[in-house]
Amino acid sequence: MRRRRWWPLVLAVLAGPAIVGGYQAGKAWRRFETQRGSAEPRPLAGQTLAVTFLDVGQGDATVLQTPSGRTLLVDAGRADEQSSRGRTVVLPYLRRKGINALDALILTHWDQDHAGGADAVIGGVAVPKMLIPRIGKRQEPASLTEKQTMAAARRERVRIVAMARGQTIRVDDGVEISVLNPPARPHRFRRSPDNNCSIVLLVRYGDRRILLMGDAEEEAELMMLRNGVNPRADVLKVGHHGSGSSTSRRWLDAVRPTAAVISVGRRNAFGHPSRVVLDRLYRRRIRVYRTDRDGTILMTTDGRSIRTRSHLR
Ligand SMILES: [Zn+2]
Repeated sequence: MRRRRWWPLVLAVLAGPAIVGGYQAGKAWRRFETQRGSAEPRPLAGQTLAVTFLDVGQGDATVLQTPSGRTLLVDAGRADEQSSRGRTVVLPYLRRKGINALDALILTHWDQDHAGGADAVIGGVAVPKMLIPRIGKRQEPASLTEKQTMAAARRERVRIVAMARGQTIRVDDGVEISVLNPPARPHRFRRSPDNNCSIVLLVRYGDRRILLMGDAEEEAELMMLRNGVNPRADVLKVGHHGSGSSTSRRWLDAVRPTAAVISVGRRNAFGHPSRVVLDRLYRRRIRVYRTDRDGTILMTTDGRSIRTRSHLR
């Protein structure tokens, strides 16, 4: 029953103008827009976009730092009764980097290995805005993770914005982030609706593209292709931790990445990543990075080349 209270807020944001305007983040007044349409993003000379795939064990947490110093966090790691990776990995990383405020927290979906750490992050740094997948008629009831995260967001007065295909997160320093999934019109996925409604993000800077899949599965991949989405990217953050339910051959043939990143826990109980998916990647000569073997992975790009470092603290 409680969750009904959130939806008027989400709907109010959706009903508003497409541009979501300025807001206070820390001391600086910053602008961060979400809007429709896309022009080619132009990199600023000598500046870099940094994408850090944090080693949060089994789960996801990816930090985007744009050339002008904006920070977006995509997922916040898992939390269970014992610990929160939001508290033990994500917040310490942000503090080491001197980041006290995010420009946005993006939750690809509500599974606890992605959104579990969000309430700790919301309580630990300034989060003006939280982007969540826009789902029409819900196929699954709100999870405990969703309820706790929304309660934390309410407490800290975080603005909620629901995102779907066709929307663009435009950062005014040449980085453009397109939302490829969930579908703009409500769609009933046959399997794993929660995973298949993951926010999928195509991050563009200059000539380079990085595709973040959340836990989107084959059904969502094929639906994006059917809907004419162009997912071509240099780096594929592999869907659903390398599970065999994602990263279909058709999807890989459309993305054609040169490198892949798998965020996965050591000796995890799910058998991720799947041998079948690894074979698909290796057969296409795609360089594979894994957080269980390579630790925290940093990719930086000036819009032309991409540099990768692993085992970062
Ligand atoms: Zn997951």
